[in-house]
Amino acid sequence: MGKSENSSASAASDPSELPHASDEPSSAAFDHEAFRRHGHALVDWIADYWAGLEERPAQPDVRPGDVRAALPATPPEEPEPFARVLEDLDQLIAPALTHWQHPRFFGYFPANVSGPSVLGDLAAAGLGTQGMSWATGPAATELETLALDWLAELLGLPDRFRSDGAGGGVIQDSASSATLVALLAARERATGGAARTHGIDRPLAVYATEHAHSSVTKAARIAGLGESAVRHVGCDDGHRLDPVALGEALAADRRAGVTPCAVIATVGTTSSGAVDPVAEIADVLAGEPAPVWLHVDAAWAGVAAVAPEHRNLVSGAERADSWSTNPHKWLLTNFDCDAFWVADRGPLLDALAILPEYLRTDANASGDAIDYRDWQVPLGRRFRALKLWFVLRGFGASGLRAHIRRHVDWAAELAQRIEADPHLELAAPRSLALVCLRHRDGEDATARVLEAANEGGRAVLTHTRLGGRLVVRVAIGSVHTARWHVRELADELSAAAEAASRADGLAEDRSR
Ligand SMILES: *Cc1c(COP(=O)(O)O)cnc(C)c1O
Repeated sequence: MGKSENSSASAASDPSELPHASDEPSSAAFDHEAFRRHGHALVDWIADYWAGLEERPAQPDVRPGDVRAALPATPPEEPEPFARVLEDLDQLIAPALTHWQHPRFFGYFPANVSGPSVLGDLAAAGLGTQGMSWATGPAATELETLALDWLAELLGLPDRFRSDGAGGGVIQDSASSATLVALLAARERATGGAARTHGIDRPLAVYATEHAHSSVTKAARIAGLGESAVRHVGCDDGHRLDPVALGEALAADRRAGVTPCAVIATVGTTSSGAVDPVAEIADVLAGEPAPVWLHVDAAWAGVAAVAPEHRNLVSGAERADSWSTNPHKWLLTNFDCDAFWVADRGPLLDALAILPEYLRTDANASGDAIDYRDWQVPLGRRFRALKLWFVLRGFGASGLRAHIRRHVDWAAELAQRIEADPHLELAAPRSLALVCLRHRDGEDATARVLEAANEGGRAVLTHTRLGGRLVVRVAIGSVHTARWHVRELADELSAAAEAASRADGLAEDRSR
């Protein structure tokens, strides 16, 4: 028995017994000329897709399972011609997508892509750099540091977040990851390093409002605090964190022997775009007996600070421990690209740095270089700075400001139209390019307005609830939207609101 095992093991390692392997590199199967030709065709396809978005519905008419059913159940054994793959992309995949770049996409928050960002990402894909350490791609690391210093300057963020001091910026895949690593750093600091070595050794608490993003609760779960550690602090009428309520929650926890670990302030909440008072939160925290980490989640709204009239969005940032915003939402950069800054990288590195032997280099021994793997959860990292750098150069500060200003200006006009409408009202004050509205006649009428706007997949509008009431959200921000699309939407909303109140009137008549 032992003998036959041995012989099969030696057979597997005997080259003459292995299936024949080609002498050519794998790239020969799709060579540089084929790549060039098909790459040009694909870039043409993307340009045509963008140019033709207007003609498509913004949302597909598909049911779960339709797409899968249209595709082969098993993978191909032989290589398929690229042209056929492209054809399926065109015929089967693209028509079954929600078109986030559509000019009538007003849902959720935008997920911008732009020519420079797509080309930057293509370059990054072609280079295939793994930028986990400075040594594994020096320019990838240094360009990221530079791009985040540039972005900090463009947003008017305080110098403490710049890389030439104790702090610095890093690109995370998402705002959710930014909140998670902020919480890991906070946990590290609050436990004096114990969390890293033994796990959490005392009850910790995190503070945010009920309007904070769901990623706060998720981060508390992942960081081992548990979601019961999240305190939903009360808000004022504008859905902003109430600093007095925060002070009370902190005091109650201290009395109960719970250690306050972090406050997650939101600048631009997902539901209504409310902005928590960061400076006042910092005032409350300054009175605490031990430091409490202040993270600002400005995922959507933060990038608007490129326009000086929106610098209020960064006020108080000089007193935050970390601050984060998503160029991949509203700043022309395709997913994923979250910009995350810390004022002091110490606790972050304490929490996340691990140096296995196979990653030791002269550069990390000298301490002269940044190893961004220590600033995030995974080890590997894509060269995402490239697309951000392409965007910052491709649009310039003036182009970025113009992008934001358009949408804010059009949203202001839409909000005026809503206020002037006899049937509609604003459900919250307009925040930047987010307009929240509802029908004056109540829930059913509001639901009908939302349905009518999305009818036949014509546009994408999504909803939320504020104070328990249904709200239609209009988030303007697609790079293909023009002012007239927003004016047309305002007309449609008015017409739908009028029809909804007539329907209400009829229903009332019938019930009498
Ligand atoms: C969109 C959003 C997030 C989540 O962003 P991801 O980058 O998708 O994780 C978090 N917080 C706020 C306030 C958001 O608007």
